[in-house]
Amino acid sequence: AILAATLVGALTWPGSTEADVIRPSERFRVSDEGEVVRIPARVIEMRGGPADAISAPTVCPDSFDVQHYELHLNPVRSTSTLEGTAIITIESTVDGLTGVQLALRDLVASSVERAGNALTYAQVGDVMTIDLDTTYDTGGTFAIEIVYSGTPDTESGGFGGFWFFPFPITDFSMGVGLNATPPSMGRYWFPGVDAPCDKATCDIYVETNGPKTAVSNGALISVTTDSTGRKTHHWQETHQIATYLMSISVAKYTAIPDTANPLITYYVHNDLVPVAAGTFANVPAMMTHFESLFGPYPYDKFSYVTTPIGDMEHQTCVSHSTALMSGTTANDDILAHELMHQWFGDLVTYEDWREVWLSEGFATYGEALFVESQSGAAGYRNYVTNQLMAPYLGNAANLTYPIYDPTFKWGTVVYEKGGVVLHMLRKVMGDTAFFAAMNGYLANHAFSTAGTGDFQAACETEYGSSLAWFFNEWIYTGGHPVIDWTWDYAPNGPDYDVSLGIVQTQTVGPAAYEMPVDFKISGVGTDTTVTVWMNAATQTFPVSVPFEPTSVQFDPHNWLLDEAAFVPTGVGGGVPVATAALESNRPNPFNPLTAIPFHLPAAARVSITIHDPAGRLVRTLLDAEQIPSGSHLVPWDGVSDTGADVASGVYFYRMLAGEKIETRKMHLVR
Ligand SMILES: [Zn+2]
Repeated sequence: AILAATLVGALTWPGSTEADVIRPSERFRVSDEGEVVRIPARVIEMRGGPADAISAPTVCPDSFDVQHYELHLNPVRSTSTLEGTAIITIESTVDGLTGVQLALRDLVASSVERAGNALTYAQVGDVMTIDLDTTYDTGGTFAIEIVYSGTPDTESGGFGGFWFFPFPITDFSMGVGLNATPPSMGRYWFPGVDAPCDKATCDIYVETNGPKTAVSNGALISVTTDSTGRKTHHWQETHQIATYLMSISVAKYTAIPDTANPLITYYVHNDLVPVAAGTFANVPAMMTHFESLFGPYPYDKFSYVTTPIGDMEHQTCVSHSTALMSGTTANDDILAHELMHQWFGDLVTYEDWREVWLSEGFATYGEALFVESQSGAAGYRNYVTNQLMAPYLGNAANLTYPIYDPTFKWGTVVYEKGGVVLHMLRKVMGDTAFFAAMNGYLANHAFSTAGTGDFQAACETEYGSSLAWFFNEWIYTGGHPVIDWTWDYAPNGPDYDVSLGIVQTQTVGPAAYEMPVDFKISGVGTDTTVTVWMNAATQTFPVSVPFEPTSVQFDPHNWLLDEAAFVPTGVGGGVPVATAALESNRPNPFNPLTAIPFHLPAAARVSITIHDPAGRLVRTLLDAEQIPSGSHLVPWDGVSDTGADVASGVYFYRMLAGEKIETRKMHLVR
């Protein structure tokens, strides 16, 4: 779910610490009968709601399971009321079932029956308790018919619920609340088990007046017209669907079949028809790409349906904000996000709300996958860096909570960081295993629900060993690595020994992240990339290259979500440190006098020696002398221990202070 709305000023959610993401767009003034008027404005995509009062999952009943919803709905715009009849088929999962509890909010039942027998029921708050007229044992099924009506509500803050929207005139439901606990909003327009863990099938019949079209989930079975001209649209979803993914949208829509893909139809407010082709130009390519990655589109149709609020990944009928109907492909990221949800979120649904990254993180990563199909690897990396990593790193101090059971369900940690985690998992596993795991996860849990453990298991099947370390540090723990890295080299016969150093200094998250990290080592007209396995707070990796290195790049393809800084300390295999104790000699180059500065955080026995490039000792300046804490300078006059002036060239100076060894390079030019 993404909230995109035209707003004049900045908007913040109470309690949210997250920055709004502002996207340039245009505002459309749309009247039911009139023309499209474009007003320059800003589209604010906003996802951060206040912290939920309860982070516990919505628990599905353990005594029964909803099999099917048959909903007959009549939104009455003149009174902003909804008249409905719900026929709910239920299977008992215990012996001796005597009653059920369903969720229904603000709407009032006038009768509840089973097979023509009136049932006793009570509504308290959102809970509707129904006593059955007979008991059912495990596997026994029955249908309850509930007639209800009332004024449906929307959540405070303005996304989820059931809307009678004035502009453009649209009666529609939005399946999740951004600041409601639990977020599922099926109960705002029909009675049911309103939790993602209980999926069912549905037939939805919607009455409209003549010029209006009702769009809902699944296939359009029929449109019938009565003698007064009122129409009933019958939509049928024969695939399992969660209540938060069910929806209806009623407006004066034009149905526009996609010219390239017969599965796709756009339902667009009549006034927006002129901008539809430009807005949806890349949708067939998106569909083709996602099908190539994740298998055939699993449902009977796919639609974007324009609604005054959006976007929301309702199964087979995405609600797409009228504010994003720009007539250009500028909002392809959101279109790709919602299409990706049809596999991740809809086909496989998270089993409870703590797992929401399995939907939103994956859909956000789908944006990058679509960019990759359009713009190649460079475009993909650019998107990951600027659209996924940057929003997180730019506000990381406020985003220290884990992806699993997040403080904010609709925030940067779940969306952008969740997407980056998949990017990093792809690096760890390699493309073949990564996409095989994504498909294995879909195949194992299609039309059902899953948790992070199920996804981890699918990944481990392809990877061939445990990935607990990866999921622990990235999903169940907040934070990211903060890295000081360094390098230097020394000749070794015809080759060169290169020393690559990493120090992790993060204060949030694990003391040491475990990840593969690339270093690109470049020489004149040549380069090589080596991958090291980072798994400790301080590490040095020796490698050998057959050319003299001139530069080294850390993580050149930006696989790692981190803050990394080059620290010029440590050469020739010396251990790098975050705060250099041995500093650069000055002047350098020198002739023949130079000074070697060093800093001690505490008193220590210190040796400082000078070596030639082959490692031979040239001069001992300090020999295990007790030195107090603080900053010090040791001079060298270019003379060896034997009293000879040494030749021009590269020399190394090495400090042993307590347990610590550091080495640096200097250049004598006579
Ligand atoms: Zn989403």
